[in-house]
Amino acid sequence: MDIKKLVKPNIRSLRAYQAEEIPCRVKLDANESPYGLKVLRSVKTNKYPDPEAKELRRLVAKELKVKTENILHGNGSDEIIYYLITTFGGPVLYPVPTFSMYGIISQSLGEKKSGIPLDEKFDLDTDRFTEAIKKKKPKLIFLSSPNNPTGNSFSSERILEIIEQSKGLVVVDEAYQPFSDRRSFLPLLKKYKNLVILRTLSKVGFAGLRVGFMIADTDIIDEVNKVRLPFNLNSLSQQVALNALQDIKRMQSYISAVKSERKGLFKEMEKTAGITPYTSDANFILFKARDAEKIYQKLLQRGILIRNMSGSMKNCLRVSVGTLKDNTAFLKALKQVL
Ligand code: PMP
Repeated sequence: MDIKKLVKPNIRSLRAYQAEEIPCRVKLDANESPYGLKVLRSVKTNKYPDPEAKELRRLVAKELKVKTENILHGNGSDEIIYYLITTFGGPVLYPVPTFSMYGIISQSLGEKKSGIPLDEKFDLDTDRFTEAIKKKKPKLIFLSSPNNPTGNSFSSERILEIIEQSKGLVVVDEAYQPFSDRRSFLPLLKKYKNLVILRTLSKVGFAGLRVGFMIADTDIIDEVNKVRLPFNLNSLSQQVALNALQDIKRMQSYISAVKSERKGLFKEMEKTAGITPYTSDANFILFKARDAEKIYQKLLQRGILIRNMSGSMKNCLRVSVGTLKDNTAFLKALKQVL
């Protein structure tokens, strides 16, 4: 029996998100934080979790200075992206290159999708977006700012232009916002009813928990909440996330440490002949190198795992910012390889 024939055509031609576990000594491929907590208070595992994650949403609301009813919780922000596309459907628009899940989920759900190339500075090409908005009338536009994998924030004016032009929802994915000095789009939620913001705990020390949020007008929250699975956020994750957020100073210190390490790592990379790093507002640095594939393999042979981006960006590699020890090991191996 050919199982492939049973699969829907849009799934058959889909390539799964690449997240394999590759054994290594220094892991700098997935934009995780090198810092994190190892604590857990007792949690009743015989009971279902709070389906509405009330306490956690309340605390996040306080931190973000929004109302609890403007927040929806997800099993990572990945899940929220899935729910948004399930709820509103396509056409879905996003710049390229960007976080691959916008396209993968659109295709899995059989929705039309379109990638609009970024300009030469990796900023949004507003002319092309304007044209695509007019022609395709997207229900959803995803803008990751800071953008993965380029690391830069898009210009705020250009994001605003797109929000104002769009008759559909514009999702500003702020997964990496904590590492940026730019202002968040959160204060603009009141003005723009079609604006949705995504946040995650994954990049600030808690990728293992799978906790993400969307912040939006209650009309949007209520619709998306209809497709949310009832117990999408397990009790252990809810509890650990609560503990983490109650100790917000510690989380902020992780963020500051990553920002400071990023500065040092970037400086060293800039001095390294044979590669060109791009400035980053995120917890990773994209860089260009001749023979990126070879460099990736040779680093891996030395136990250093980074991300090979050359499939979507020619000769590009992406390294997550680690601890000083990780970064030093990466730089040493990189220099040897080059
Ligand atoms: N948005 C962007 C831009 C990302 O890079 C990632 C993670 N790679 C996510 C969302 C997903 O994060 P989470 O772990 O919360 O699902």
